[in-house]
Amino acid sequence: MRHILNYINGKLYQAESKETLEVMNPSNGKMYSSAPSSDHRDVESAVEAARAAFPAWSALSIDARSRYMIKIANRIEEKLDELAIAESIDNGKPVKLARMVDIPRGAANFRFFGNAITQFASESHDMGTAINYTLRQPLGVVGCISPWNLPLYLFSWKIAPALAAGNTVVAKPSEVTPMTAFLLSEICIEVGLPAGVLNIVHGLGENVGAPLCSHPKVKAISFTGSTRVGGEIAKVAAPMFKKVSLEMGGKNPNIIFADCDYEKMLNTTIRSSFANQGQICLCGSRIYVERTIYDKFKTDFVAKAKALKVGDPLLPETNTGAIVSKMHYDKVLSYIEIAKEEGGQILCGGKALHPKGLEDGLYIGPTIIEGLPNDCRTNQEEIFGPVVTIMPFDTEEEALNLANGTDYGLSATLWTNNLTRAHRFAKELDAGIVWVNTWLMRDLRTPFGGVKSSGVGREGGFNVLKFFTEQKNVCIDFG
Ligand code: NAD
Repeated sequence: MRHILNYINGKLYQAESKETLEVMNPSNGKMYSSAPSSDHRDVESAVEAARAAFPAWSALSIDARSRYMIKIANRIEEKLDELAIAESIDNGKPVKLARMVDIPRGAANFRFFGNAITQFASESHDMGTAINYTLRQPLGVVGCISPWNLPLYLFSWKIAPALAAGNTVVAKPSEVTPMTAFLLSEICIEVGLPAGVLNIVHGLGENVGAPLCSHPKVKAISFTGSTRVGGEIAKVAAPMFKKVSLEMGGKNPNIIFADCDYEKMLNTTIRSSFANQGQICLCGSRIYVERTIYDKFKTDFVAKAKALKVGDPLLPETNTGAIVSKMHYDKVLSYIEIAKEEGGQILCGGKALHPKGLEDGLYIGPTIIEGLPNDCRTNQEEIFGPVVTIMPFDTEEEALNLANGTDYGLSATLWTNNLTRAHRFAKELDAGIVWVNTWLMRDLRTPFGGVKSSGVGREGGFNVLKFFTEQKNVCIDFG
């Protein structure tokens, strides 16, 4: 059994409290590791270490910082198999998904921002007899808080740009999936990242995340997680005038017109509904289908969902693994009950599964529900599991109203071969990210984030480097 430790000032430590949290493998329901149950004292040590490291790290040449980032990226790639297996055991996701998506993306995040910082420029404004130039300076110590659904992928998506921009970081991974964050600390030690530049503190949200957000020496918080916790962080950060970037929940629509490329749409919709057990913030959970193809879609979609292989995440043939935690599993099942009470008909799935040999694992069959109105809880609240609803529509206007009819606005997917409709619709959708005839196609240079209750601010590309720097205008009169 590997015990997870905090990474503070370049070394690995237990929590000050000496207490630990159990870490579960959701594929079999058994505890397999432990993580420090840290508190404000560990946060304090980490912030102090980050403060002490800031002057030297921020003064390092861009090239030198970039080289550290690339070294970390290379080491993640060298350890692809070990990290993918660790992510799968910790999270319940199919190992093939971790190997193809999560871990390569962790490496890509460090590589991308290691390169991006070498291309990041500031502006100047010429007044004829005077010149203004804008410095972009790192903020100091920043906090990065991430969720459990894409553990290393989202953790590194925040840490990499923060470090590249010259900040030092105190990072808090989800207590539900701490393992790859711990393995990242070992990688940082292996590549010789200077002590205190990155600090990783494990523990519960209220014990570690909250003191990190309220710490007066922490200048900015980059958070990905639920809308509820994002709201709590905003309340703490606002009177302290901290910069915040909040990437929160979603209830993403998937709008399918009859003129789409049907096979491509069907195969992609299976992925966008059930990949990672539906636990990707960008999954489409409300599927609106033009009435003329609704019955055909329903039949084909249900058949494909039933064919998905649910079971041991470590087997290469598994499509759908385990739900991440008992608490989340109970939540997803409770929403299926709510859907039934609301009058929904379960077309497939809808219940817990107990694969042979993994009877205590947390499995839920891919679930498709029809017959619900748009304004019911099932269609308004984030379930974040392998559960989608399907609904027919007749007109473009109706589809748009249905798609925009929630408090969320993270992403939307549109299927049509009508070019003018695609542009018209993309412009009108309440979402930070719109995919047309594809899903989860990501270019790391593009702005990433949501509108309405899904987010404040944009990550990705130079947007996030701007977030992690402060502008200062310098005006020189030479007239
Ligand atoms: P969560 O909000 O419960 O927890 C996220 C992180 O915040 C965890 O590390 C947690 O320990 C910490 N935390 C909890 N309470 C805190 C507090 N008071 N102060 C500071 N930190 C605190 O979310 P989760 O259940 O881990 O993740 C699922 C959610 O994340 C879903 O809502 C999903 O949509 C969202 N998500 C959003 C995106 C996006 O890009 N918009 C991406 C992935 C996941």
